[in-house]
Amino acid sequence: MNAPASVPRQRKPDWIRVKAPVSEGYHNTRKLMRSLGLATVCEEAACPNIGECWTKKHATVMILGDTCTRACAFCNVKTGMPRAVDPLEPEHVAVAAAELGLEHIVVTSVDRDDLPDGGASQFVKVIQALRRNTPNTTIEILTPDFRNKHEAAVSAIVEAGPDVYNHNLETVPRLYPTIRPGARYYASLRLLESVKRQAPHIFTKSGVMVGLGEQRLEVHQVMDDMRSAGVDFLTMGQYLQPTPRHAKVEEFVSPQAFDAYAAIARAKGFLLVAASPLTRSSYHAGDDFKKMQANRTAQLERIRA
Ligand code: SF4
Repeated sequence: MNAPASVPRQRKPDWIRVKAPVSEGYHNTRKLMRSLGLATVCEEAACPNIGECWTKKHATVMILGDTCTRACAFCNVKTGMPRAVDPLEPEHVAVAAAELGLEHIVVTSVDRDDLPDGGASQFVKVIQALRRNTPNTTIEILTPDFRNKHEAAVSAIVEAGPDVYNHNLETVPRLYPTIRPGARYYASLRLLESVKRQAPHIFTKSGVMVGLGEQRLEVHQVMDDMRSAGVDFLTMGQYLQPTPRHAKVEEFVSPQAFDAYAAIARAKGFLLVAASPLTRSSYHAGDDFKKMQANRTAQLERIRA
């Protein structure tokens, strides 16, 4: 980053501090997830926004269990040999969406490199269960990279018809060997491109974390790469080290630097940009979905005029 805020490494600046989750809404959301045996990325990733989101009953469900087959240096989700896929999970996700009264749901998963389809068929079943049970809920999925099988996985999932398809690039390509060692930057880009090619009407979304030691121009290049893959929505947030075992925070990027990134990203043509220290892929996802729809409508009207 070329213009870092002068904040000592590892000490959280004021703009990162969040309130502890204590509200009744938070506890009710937690109780519901436990009763349905559902995992959430909000808890597993130790998301700083959990107090705010769960108070509003916004939770991001994590399907395919709570154990990931990868071990990325930034991620708090536990690693190991996952349990068998739960056949009741799709219905339980639909029950959670109905009980929470969700207008928009975000569904993500752990990486399941152990499964022949990488878990794609479970995403399909969850989308189908949601369409059956809560037809007015819009659906956003945040998938893994489906290593070596993304074409088939993407075909099956876009056929099921989510409203938004998100896959995060997470960081700049130079940092992949240390931060995301099990993944390939260009494979992730090709996945995003494949979604847009197969289903141009589905909004595509991708995100990066900053503060891992990336340079400003490297981030601009990632934006260009995303645009060339047709990505509609960019999210950018501050990386936070979940435990001392995880990658260190190299820099706390100031809110002003996030604003500068957002301005550049808008100039590069994203339909929507969310960039702030506490932005996460699913933060305010429902409101952002409505903004994306409005922006696309306005864009099409401009083209027709
Ligand atoms: S930002 Fe996303 S992951 Fe974090 S608490 Fe909110 S819904 Fe959950």
